[in-house]
Amino acid sequence: MKAVLFDMDGVLFDSMPYHAEAWHQAMTAHGFTFSRAEAFLHEGRTGAGTINIVSLRERGKEASPEEIQQIYAEKSEAFNRFPEVKPMAGAWKVLQKVKAAGLIPMIVTGSGQSSLLERLDKYFPHTFVPERMVTAFDVKHGKPDPEPYLMALQKGGLTADEAVVVENAPLGIQSAVAAGIFTIAVNTGPLSDDVLLDAGADLLFHSMNELSERWNEIDR
Ligand code: CA
Repeated sequence: MKAVLFDMDGVLFDSMPYHAEAWHQAMTAHGFTFSRAEAFLHEGRTGAGTINIVSLRERGKEASPEEIQQIYAEKSEAFNRFPEVKPMAGAWKVLQKVKAAGLIPMIVTGSGQSSLLERLDKYFPHTFVPERMVTAFDVKHGKPDPEPYLMALQKGGLTADEAVVVENAPLGIQSAVAAGIFTIAVNTGPLSDDVLLDAGADLLFHSMNELSERWNEIDR
């Protein structure tokens, strides 16, 4: 094992409740039915992908590019009105264990939220560098496509069996598993464990604190 690939929202930052609320507000304002719980099921998908799935379901056609842009802009504005997102409890402890073990921490996120990307350095100093990050700006397909994780392997000069992934969302788990990487689920949200295990997770913990406490079981 050489590297640990971390998802960002719901793993390193406790940001998912804000994302879910922001999605609910923006979609509802445009006449769609979209619960906060559904936002957790779509977590990791691109904004356009999420909007089109719901539009096809409720209108029988995809949303126009203009509407997609408008909804996503409103969602981002709503997200940014919330108080500052805090790091996930236990995330810094996990990162310190990863670094102490000589492993390379990388980030693989579907997020293009610049406020969070800038905050990485504040809460997790001297940990992540842009060359070892895959964000919404890098990928074409996004999770659950394996592209983001395959790109991370390429950026890190890694084979699939030299890395492990830490993910909280079903689509993120699917993406990592499709890239052939050992995947640890951390269930930090409202979905049942079964949803994450059915997505293909190899191991499951219920918090980053629990992952930190049981790190020795993985690092061998
Ligand atoms: Ca996530």
